[in-house]
Amino acid sequence: MALLELDGVSKAFGSLKAVDNVSFKVEAGEIFGIAGPNGSGKSTLFNTITGIPFGPDRGTIRFDGVEIQKLRGHRIARLGLARTFQRETAFDGLTVFENALMGSAFGGQQTVEAAASAAEALEFVGFSAQDFGRPAGELSVFQRKCLMLATAIAMKPKMLLLDEPASSLTKPEIDSSIELIRRTAARGITILLIEHVLTLLMSLSQHLLVLNEGSVLALGDPRTVVADQRVVEAYLGS
Ligand code: ADP
Ligand code: MG
Repeated sequence: MALLELDGVSKAFGSLKAVDNVSFKVEAGEIFGIAGPNGSGKSTLFNTITGIPFGPDRGTIRFDGVEIQKLRGHRIARLGLARTFQRETAFDGLTVFENALMGSAFGGQQTVEAAASAAEALEFVGFSAQDFGRPAGELSVFQRKCLMLATAIAMKPKMLLLDEPASSLTKPEIDSSIELIRRTAARGITILLIEHVLTLLMSLSQHLLVLNEGSVLALGDPRTVVADQRVVEAYLGS
């Protein structure tokens, strides 16, 4: 059984079909990539899956055997589905540690366990104990992305949805991010990864789906998908 399965998922904003009849399956343990030009519906697809801030208008979404398309975001999170956002988000007034603690507490863990998983997740992404008390507001863009990842990992999710983790990063930072995503997958966390940059998805994902104007344009082995003439045209046109 697939860990995540979407069947005919749609979400419209007025007359704009942002996500249009999308179906796919993600197997436990894989890194599944989603690419597509800007505005093709990638982030909206993540929103509909996680229920943050909204679910789909139509279609079914099954996660770990449970239908989640009508559940609230926090319920979905507690089933073991975590996400990061395209814009690096943190509570600037809280410390690095307090931010990660929001993740483990949101995931439903009690105080002692929540503190331990927050600390472990922060160290995993590269923060040292001296960083724990720093306000999140003084971190660099890359550090904020690492903090957002740690906050999601602190939830101890079965699956993690990453929305453009490499955007606005330098080349060395992108390389570090690729390594970090690999290590996160090696913890046994299934990953659904959105990226505009195809090369990053090529090196990481076992399956690649390309969205265009809300619909699935191509799906399959990453090398086959990027060679698809329709995919080449969608990217050249963007
Ligand atoms: P991507 O992440 O692939 O760049 P998005 O999912 O952000 O694309 O957006 C898909 C389309 O939906 C775009 O045309 C965007 O303007 C529109 N859109 C996204 N969110 C909203 C919203 N909350 N209200 C209205 N339109 C939206
Ligand atoms: Mg987006």
